[in-house]
Amino acid sequence: SVYLDHNATTAPAPEAVAAMLHALEVAWANPSSTHEPGQQARRLLAEARSRVATFLGCQPSELVFTSGATEANHTAVHAALAATRGIGRQRLVLSSVEHPGLMALAARLEAEGVPVTRLPVDADGRVDLAAAREAIGADVALVSVMGANNETGVLMPVAELAELAHAAGARMHVDATQLAGKAALDFAALGADLMSVSAHKLHGPKGVGALVVRKGFALAPLLAGRQERHRRGGTENLPGIAGFAAACDRAAATPAADIERIAALRDRLEASCATLPGVQVYGRRVARVANTCCLRFGTLDAELVLGRLERADVVASSGAACAAGGTQPSHVLLAMGEPSAHARAALRFSLGRDSTDAHVQQALAAVHAAVAPLLQDAVAAAC
Ligand code: PLP
Repeated sequence: SVYLDHNATTAPAPEAVAAMLHALEVAWANPSSTHEPGQQARRLLAEARSRVATFLGCQPSELVFTSGATEANHTAVHAALAATRGIGRQRLVLSSVEHPGLMALAARLEAEGVPVTRLPVDADGRVDLAAAREAIGADVALVSVMGANNETGVLMPVAELAELAHAAGARMHVDATQLAGKAALDFAALGADLMSVSAHKLHGPKGVGALVVRKGFALAPLLAGRQERHRRGGTENLPGIAGFAAACDRAAATPAADIERIAALRDRLEASCATLPGVQVYGRRVARVANTCCLRFGTLDAELVLGRLERADVVASSGAACAAGGTQPSHVLLAMGEPSAHARAALRFSLGRDSTDAHVQQALAAVHAAVAPLLQDAVAAAC
């Protein structure tokens, strides 16, 4: 099928699969063991760490491997709050369009008494800097804002937010999960203290990611133990880490022209959809990652449209999350000021390195053959 859901996950690259198999079959010993097989695994771990660090623009010692971005995000928040507990700086500031895992953590902490501020976004989905200026004061422990939104692809003003955070004596965390592999990513230049990434969004395996921790920040672990310099307990997931490193190498070796190629495919897909009546594209007026297109076909329910597309062998996704009691409209679109009927209609095409001209052609054929008639019926019914 034509896979247009790369923001959800990507297929592991052959290089990543080969590196994982090698780690499973050859370097399977415990990197903490002092015997030779253990030391062989330890060398592989050190080598993978330095390759991932090079890709992310950080020092190898700044990298803490985790089970993915969700764990990295949770670690960042807990560690930042722990670091300032003694001095009463406990406010968490995040955007209102963060990943559901981080939104859920913020809600849980809030219920436990942690003051939380959710920054509004504008109609294009960018964090409102004026609101951030107001909110980031002397009681803030951490400002946590994603680099690019997973639903809209919109880039957030993280450098400006890092400046505001630091001016107020707070720390800055960037969830860069949707940036890695899609745009140049350089931790040193980002200005953040903490950064999360996940391997499976850049053709690496699932269940592995990293938290980058700026040198000098004594990170309290979420999982206590002596691995990762006492910053993350548990025997290292060496196959996952080796696959992650191979995926980073591959992403680093991909020419910048390929990002432009993906942007051109996305733009073609978007422009052709936009010729249909009632189509609205989100985030089009601001900077976005190259691969993401978030739009709605009038008020046609996203699930209905996705079903039609899937019958034509094209898979994409909606921003809506399935919750008990029904499908919830996307919190991202609601935060952008969209009414619930629009938020329920929003769907996302996300392209990847393996997307081709032919894929876009097939997706457009499906849109024009299977979705456009529904849209015309809806327009006729409204007249
Ligand atoms: N943060 C963002 C922005 C994401 O898009 C995702 C992907 O699902 C995550 C965090 C969670 O990553 P993981 O699946 O590695 O926990």
